Amino acid sequence: MHRQRLALGLGICLLVGTSLSVLWVYVENWLPVSYVPYYLPCPEILSQYPQPKLLEHRPTQLLTLTPWLAPIVSEGTFNPELLQHIYQPLNLTIGVTVFAVGKYTHFVQSFLESAEEFFMRGYWVHYYVFTDNPAAIPRVPLGPHRLLGTIPIQGHSHWEEISMRRMETISQHIAKRAHREVDYLFCLDVDMVFRNPWGPETLGDLVAAIHPGYYAVPRQQFPYERRRVSTAFVADSEGDFYYGGAVFGGQVARVYEFTRSCHMAILADKANGVMAAWQEESHLNRHFISNKPSKVLSPEYLWDDRKPQPPSLKLIRFSTLVKDISCLRS
Ligand code: UDP
Ligand code: MN
Repeated sequence: MHRQRLALGLGICLLVGTSLSVLWVYVENWLPVSYVPYYLPCPEILSQYPQPKLLEHRPTQLLTLTPWLAPIVSEGTFNPELLQHIYQPLNLTIGVTVFAVGKYTHFVQSFLESAEEFFMRGYWVHYYVFTDNPAAIPRVPLGPHRLLGTIPIQGHSHWEEISMRRMETISQHIAKRAHREVDYLFCLDVDMVFRNPWGPETLGDLVAAIHPGYYAVPRQQFPYERRRVSTAFVADSEGDFYYGGAVFGGQVARVYEFTRSCHMAILADKANGVMAAWQEESHLNRHFISNKPSKVLSPEYLWDDRKPQPPSLKLIRFSTLVKDISCLRS
């Protein structure tokens, strides 16, 4: 009698256990697999960090969230209509800084015309064009609520000096003027054009863009500054993404802190007679390792016309024009 009861008890336990595990397998399969719809082709970056179980089984191709939980923005990861409803009533003003020194004034027309077509349509936009030749800045017709200010700056004979000076000039300009005029500020290269919409999905406290040359490259191959003597030094064990120097931005106060810190680091290097491997881009990358961007733009927002469009890139929104560097920099 006693044995029979024991056997019955065990049988019931076994039955309940099996049913529960079958139920669990069913529920697990039924649950949405992941709320992360796409992955950028950066499996190497993912493998630096302990992986949540859900990601292990997936063919990681497009990443939409950094390991510090900042969104990586690309087509299909956001709802433009929804964002429009949220951001439009805020009446935000978005600033843009571009530098056009020497021969780079040639790029201003196509930059501005394409920005008028695609950049933050329907928002207040304030372009700040820094140039050594204000007379060469074309009068591109601007839409309603869009302004352009030309700010004279000194030219430099070396192109490295021109791009290195941008951090200093931007931080001073924010302190003097832009902090009163804009809510968000993007600092962009001028040798580029917009090809598709760039909207409020790009707004964030501190925004960086993944460099089109290094989105699928192992971290060890990122061209960070590797000499300890530079303030832009990055150890082999450090780094998340390699960001491009041609696009960064954020809330105007955050961009002020960012550009000021980079400028200070550049000054420290100068005092030691050091020029970082990729000039201000090296400092920008160093700074984004210590101060993580709150939003990361996929290479859709910083592409390069010399590269063919890979299938993982659904859209090209902003791209570097093919240019004759030797002629421009001479
Ligand atoms: N720039 C400029 N005049 C120059 C060199 C550079 O105005 O002679 C500015 C311009 O805004 C340019 C940016 O600095 O887009 C960065 O330089 P460049 O685009 O040549 O660098 P790359 O994108 O090729 O690294
Ligand atoms: Mn450029």
